[in-house]
This record gives sequence, structure tokens and C-alpha cells, in this order.
Amino acid sequence: MFASPEKNKIISMIPFIMLISIAFFALWFFSTTNKRDKTLQQSITVSVDFLEENVLFYKRLDAEEKDQFETDVKDFLLHVTVTGIDTTVADTDKLLIASAAVIPIFYFKQWKYQNLREVLVYSDAINMNFESSGNTNRDILGMVGAGSFEGKMLLSKHALQQGFKNQTDKSNTAIHEFIHLIDKSDGDMDGIPGVLLDKLYVIPWINMIHEQMQQIAKNKSDISPYATMNKAEFFAVVAEYFFERPALLEEKHPRLYAMLSEMFDGR
Ligand SMILES: [Zn+2]
Repeated sequence: MFASPEKNKIISMIPFIMLISIAFFALWFFSTTNKRDKTLQQSITVSVDFLEENVLFYKRLDAEEKDQFETDVKDFLLHVTVTGIDTTVADTDKLLIASAAVIPIFYFKQWKYQNLREVLVYSDAINMNFESSGNTNRDILGMVGAGSFEGKMLLSKHALQQGFKNQTDKSNTAIHEFIHLIDKSDGDMDGIPGVLLDKLYVIPWINMIHEQMQQIAKNKSDISPYATMNKAEFFAVVAEYFFERPALLEEKHPRLYAMLSEMFDGR
């Protein structure tokens, strides 16, 4: 079959025309989505007074950074649903969850929790059967979902509130779980966060983990013994310490503090 030169010219231009159309559609789609997100963001109210009183990380930011933090909190709540399972969830609980999500990635401007759609809130600690009452091994304060719970995080409301209330105990359950999610975003929850750690630092980081675990095992460390469970738990526990008591961590463990600053302070 033969085609005229004009027809051939038109046919040869089809991929080009398709490419231009896709580019225009993408531009239109993202600008519309952006506008819609901004409008929806305005419908979420953030109590600045509540953040000031309850979120130490926020309190320490300058005015411009505080604005950014509030925007990030709204953006998180726009994309992640928070559901109370056996308890009510107040707006202030949602603010605490969003704050715990924003704190570790605050200096990474384009970060989105791609692996999270919903946070399920239980009244208290749960057991492996997700029961939050009774005395049957209820020792789970938070959990990053897997299998049928993929894309979900489970949190105890009591532990969530306690984590922000006590600002001297080096622990914060919600931040701990978000650290696991960040760790998991490279495919493995193994304590080696590919997204935060330059390849050059992987071996020194693993060596540091082993060194610190030995100190904890010998009772020569103020880091929680829970950190010796495995490398993923070590990373989550020391990151809690880093965000809750940065000055103390720097004083007691300067090399660990420097490594975590390298990871989280993307400025
Ligand atoms: Zn953990």
C-alpha cells in the first residue's frame, strides 16, 4: 500500500503531536491538582497554639519554618486518612500524628509518604490479634502494616499523646513508626534508609550500629535496650532520641548525633 508524501508527513508527526498533547495534559492535571490541594488545605485548621504547647520541634523553628511546618501538616492530613478504631480521634490527635510524620522529613521538601494511606488509631496498646482491652500480651504501641495492612499504620492513642507529653524521656512512639516507614521506603525495613543515607556512609553506619548495640548490651549506654532487637529498631529508637533530646544525644553520643544529623538535616 502506498501513501502520498503529505500523508506520510502527517503520519510521521503523530508521535510528536501525541507527546505535545501528553505534556499539555500533564501540565493541566498537575496545576489543577495543585490548586485543588491548596483549596482543600485551607479547609484544614491547624491550631498554632496547640503546636506551640505540645510539639517541641515546632516550637524551636523560626517563623518562616513554622509556616512551612503548618503547610506540611495540612498536606499530610489531606493525603492520609486518620481513623479511630475503638476510640474517638480529636483534631489535636490528628495534629500530633501529622507532626510526627512531618518532623523526620521536614528538611526534605519533596518528600511524600508514598507507602501510607491510613493511620488506624486504637485507644491503647494492642496484641497480635489487634485487641486493645484485656490482659493478653498487649505490648504493641504502634506498627507499620504489612500484608493486608499494607499502606496502613497502627497507633495507640495513649502512646501517641504520651510521646508528645513527656519531652524528656527520649521516646516518641509515633515518630518511631514514621521512621520505620521512611526506612521501608527503599523496599527493606532494615535500619539502612537508602533515601537518607549516601552509599558511602552505609558501612560506617552498620559499624556504628554494632558498636552501639554492644555498649547497650553491656549496660554502658543510656539508649533504650529495645534498640538491640535488630538494626531497624536501633534506627527507630535512636531517631526518637535524636528528635526528642538532640542536645543530650550530641553530648552523650557525638558521632551518632553527627551521623543522624547527616541523614535528617537535609539543609
Ligand atoms: Zn519499632
